Amino acid sequence: MKRKTAFSLMLLLILMNGLGFLASGQGLFTPALPSGLKVYPADRYFEVLPRIVLADTETTIRIISRYEIFPIPDCTYRLTYTPVGRYAVKSGWVKAAAEPIVPRNNVFEIKMLFESEQEHIFRIEEVKADGKAREVGTFHIYSLKPDLFALRPYKGDIHMHSYRSDGLEAPGYVIGAGRRAGLDFMALTDHYNYAASLEVIELFRNLPVDLKIFPGEEVHPPDNPVHFVSFGAREGITELYRADQTVYRQEVQSIMNKLGNLPPGVDRFQYASSIWTFEKIRERDGLGIFAHPYWQPGNANYISYALVDHIFETGIFDALELVSGFDWQALQEVDVNNLQLAKYLEAKAKGQKIPVVGISDSHTCEQSDMFGRYYTICFAPSAELPELIKAIKDERSVAVETVAGHLPRPFGPFRLVAFTHFLLRYVLPLHDEMCFEEGRLMVDYAGGNKGVVEELKLLQGQVKKYYDRIWANPTGGAATVRPEK
Ligand SMILES: [Zn+2]
Ligand SMILES: [Zn+2]
Repeated sequence: MKRKTAFSLMLLLILMNGLGFLASGQGLFTPALPSGLKVYPADRYFEVLPRIVLADTETTIRIISRYEIFPIPDCTYRLTYTPVGRYAVKSGWVKAAAEPIVPRNNVFEIKMLFESEQEHIFRIEEVKADGKAREVGTFHIYSLKPDLFALRPYKGDIHMHSYRSDGLEAPGYVIGAGRRAGLDFMALTDHYNYAASLEVIELFRNLPVDLKIFPGEEVHPPDNPVHFVSFGAREGITELYRADQTVYRQEVQSIMNKLGNLPPGVDRFQYASSIWTFEKIRERDGLGIFAHPYWQPGNANYISYALVDHIFETGIFDALELVSGFDWQALQEVDVNNLQLAKYLEAKAKGQKIPVVGISDSHTCEQSDMFGRYYTICFAPSAELPELIKAIKDERSVAVETVAGHLPRPFGPFRLVAFTHFLLRYVLPLHDEMCFEEGRLMVDYAGGNKGVVEELKLLQGQVKKYYDRIWANPTGGAATVRPEK
């Protein structure tokens, strides 16, 4: 290739890359948070209250300018409304048309009926006397049906490793770094090691933090290559066969005896041992996760496709790892997450119930593109363990993956995915930012600085207050409003 052509091509590529960024709406100038999310400038300059409203209820939205005084002399303002889903049966909305709006004491107030479950966009422009217009900001609202409106999103990663198995950092470091990246709940799941997850809960037990830490482990039953994640179980599963495998082998044998004919290629022992593992996790009130079914170390899948198919068809697991982080090399060479997604969609099309989680399977927080970027969002009344497990089992969760340099992508039920797109752009960036300092202090505490308790106390409850503010009062309007300027 000639040098000049190569140079033009390079320039073109740089330009296209830049335009790609702009088209994504993320802008070129805002640094990403550890979660990969970015706060939109309009969400820094303005506060929009409420942001999440009850569908088909008349609600007053207040767009509050926090740093600039409105109205600016000699300016008028106009507002363009767009319901993203184009559902506008009662309002008669046909197409985007600007209407005048008058700000009072720094507040643009909009009272309207938010129809159905969808995103709503308000674009405000200022018009100078000479007719020139400038955008003040574009503001996004989401209206939800009552069932989803009553819940809150909780971000969690429940599959990761520390040096207590083959990870790099200490358990306390990993958990603190997870909060720093914006997680609301976590479980350390070292290989063959339930105790490590309990120790890290103990380490932070008396700290005033909002992160929920639950027990977990990655389970590897003898002579069964399938990987399982036990989340939230009362006791370890590895303990059941570590010292003596006699009972394990007897119980698996008795499950094998009850199995009829299995499809060709399915190993009877491996399948029976998988049933055994999920049962033991459930008996201990945990959630049994079928881990990375399409992990392909080297050239071959880590377990047979026949076994994966049969585990899917018989639905013996509680939840599927729909997106997994782990091995960056494997993700690039063989898109294992894409295979998991295809399998999920196929099973859903058959009418099967497939609860999903997204996890990082991180083995290092500081040297990974996945830690804090691959996670589950549960829609639940609270982040208490039984509520989170119920949310996942009831298919009220989505799996999120954020490939380095790309926008986050949620996967799962359509309705939740649509809402999650909104949350990832306009709600969770500020959430993640609020978690950062708490996580930073937790990492510091794990490193021996026990003097951070007072600082942590001051930070407690931030996210709850934030959600209380942005969720509408069900009768319309914000629950709490900052004092006006
Ligand atoms: Zn694994
Ligand atoms: Zn793992």
